[in-house]
Amino acid sequence: MSALIVLTGPSGVGKGTLLRSLIQRHPELYLSVSVTTRSPRPGEIDGKNYYFVSRSTFERMVANGELLEWADFAGNLYGTPRKAVEDQIRQGNRVILEIELQGARQIRKNFPAALQIFILPPSLLELEDRIRHRAQDSEEAIVRRLQSARTEIAAADEFDICIVNDDIAKALERIEATLFATATC
Ligand code: 5GP
Repeated sequence: MSALIVLTGPSGVGKGTLLRSLIQRHPELYLSVSVTTRSPRPGEIDGKNYYFVSRSTFERMVANGELLEWADFAGNLYGTPRKAVEDQIRQGNRVILEIELQGARQIRKNFPAALQIFILPPSLLELEDRIRHRAQDSEEAIVRRLQSARTEIAAADEFDICIVNDDIAKALERIEATLFATATC
């Protein structure tokens, strides 16, 4: 069983919703809280959804080696704080990183034993619809996210497992089957 689990997929694919349900059902899993330079969206809480920091603080964290991986996504910086993840793994816990493609590639290089899961939308049209209906981003941000989505989806076959989020309950079942698969003979 991999201690480190990476969950990637285009913005708007429903990773957040899936993860909230997953953690509710399996509170023993530790969901890493990332650092970002993005501004909080309405309802987002510092320290819960993200640690919201300035660009200079983020750059200092990179320079000090405090991030396990980091990436520039749609004009903002995002990264995984190293210490919390290493502490949890040392304590024997399984850690989930919800990150984008560039970060997933860094983790794959540095932690080849990590389990990498990619969440796909049923179609690009449906993804666009979901991103637009979220209505939390500017038109410019939406266009950038859709461009990134195309790049990310094209890289889905780099991942150990791809799961289509056509139905939340079914996608959750598939994630659970992947995470808690036990060998039988
Ligand atoms: P959002 O702004 O929609 O919350 O996140 C944008 C993208 O950044 C999402 O694909 C999300 O998975 C990714 N992301 C969130 N935290 C991290 C992180 O720590 N590292 C990387 N590489 N990507 C992240």
